Amino acid sequence: MTTEIIDKNELHKMDPVFGQESFDNHEQIVFCNDKDTGLKAIIGIHNTVLGPSLGGTRMWNYTSEWDALNDVLRLSRGMTYKSAISGLNLGGGKAVIIGDAKTQKTPELMLKFGEFVNSLGGKYITAEDVGMQTSDMDLVRTVTPYVTGLSESLGGKGNPSPITAYGVFMGMKGAAQFTFGSDDLEGKVVYVQGIGNVGEALVERLSKDGAKVFISDINRDKLEEVRDKYNVKIYEGNDLYSEEMDIYAPCALGATVNDQTIGKLKTKIIAGAANNQLAVEQKHGKMLRDKGIIWAPDFLINAGGVINVYAELENYDRKEIMRKTEHIYDTTLEILKNAADNSITTYQAAYNIAQARIDERKNQK
Ligand code: NAD
Repeated sequence: MTTEIIDKNELHKMDPVFGQESFDNHEQIVFCNDKDTGLKAIIGIHNTVLGPSLGGTRMWNYTSEWDALNDVLRLSRGMTYKSAISGLNLGGGKAVIIGDAKTQKTPELMLKFGEFVNSLGGKYITAEDVGMQTSDMDLVRTVTPYVTGLSESLGGKGNPSPITAYGVFMGMKGAAQFTFGSDDLEGKVVYVQGIGNVGEALVERLSKDGAKVFISDINRDKLEEVRDKYNVKIYEGNDLYSEEMDIYAPCALGATVNDQTIGKLKTKIIAGAANNQLAVEQKHGKMLRDKGIIWAPDFLINAGGVINVYAELENYDRKEIMRKTEHIYDTTLEILKNAADNSITTYQAAYNIAQARIDERKNQK
């Protein structure tokens, strides 16, 4: 083995799994295949130092298996830091099922997937993510106990999205306190990109707080419905990133903060629900910092959902769920101050705290 520096693209070709850009010392990656049901899934277990890995299952029509692998690697890693920073005794994991949830998700396929989850003996606990519903988790529960996000009748804690939205709102207020010296969002211009389960619940809170909310989504019917319900404005332009605003709230897809968008951004704060908002964390975290844009780390402020499902495992009640989620305000403020005091990115400040908790536990073992 030579010691010369190897180009990352070359490494990618030589070592297609461990050399993957998104590979970050994941403990285990499980490829699940079943000819009869057509199941093709990947379970990514990033880290189990703090506890069993927990994270949702996403069903998505990936353009390639590489995309699916990349997604599960990034998402499972994100779960490690999300749970660590939220003080939960959970590791990070995630699963992806390759296929169209609308046309290819059958009960047989979900049961087979549940059997694969079960075969891991609790090292990975699944939950809902994009393309999944509570009823799917209820079905998976018939073949494995290693599943959360169940119906309330089965001991579940119900839809996590309003809790996620509450956490994002708290993180946004913490970021506003840090940036503007007040957490009052009245009159602040907020663009919410994606008004699905979380986005809509966030819009509700923002409009109650008197923020000037603009919404964007690819679903026109939904836009009109949410506009009428909360008296907010639909963004009719075609380049949201270039607009003057106080807060940009990405609540649809990941990686919207990237080489193309950062140059255009005029926002003062980014705080939203989407996972993996920064296309490349270190690089884009630094670019935001250089521009003076405050980024509230996604894995911190969108943790309400995992706090909600963790309650199913630890048996705590709604009051405790809300208390833990509300605490996101204080943690956000602490991290933003820490980043400013130490001249590091907010991503790095959040990551350091999460990693320190993992290292501490590792050293105790
Ligand atoms: P959702 O599927 O209910 O909503 C997503 C919305 O984004 C949809 O209305 C969709 O039409 C819209 N959308 C898709 N592409 C878009 C685009 N290019 N521009 C604008 N809008 C677009 O999902 P959700 O549960 O609300 O989750 C939103 C985000 O938050 C996801 O990235 C998810 O991973 C993340 N998240 C969700 C939770 C949760 O509890 N649901 C928890 C943590 C993180």
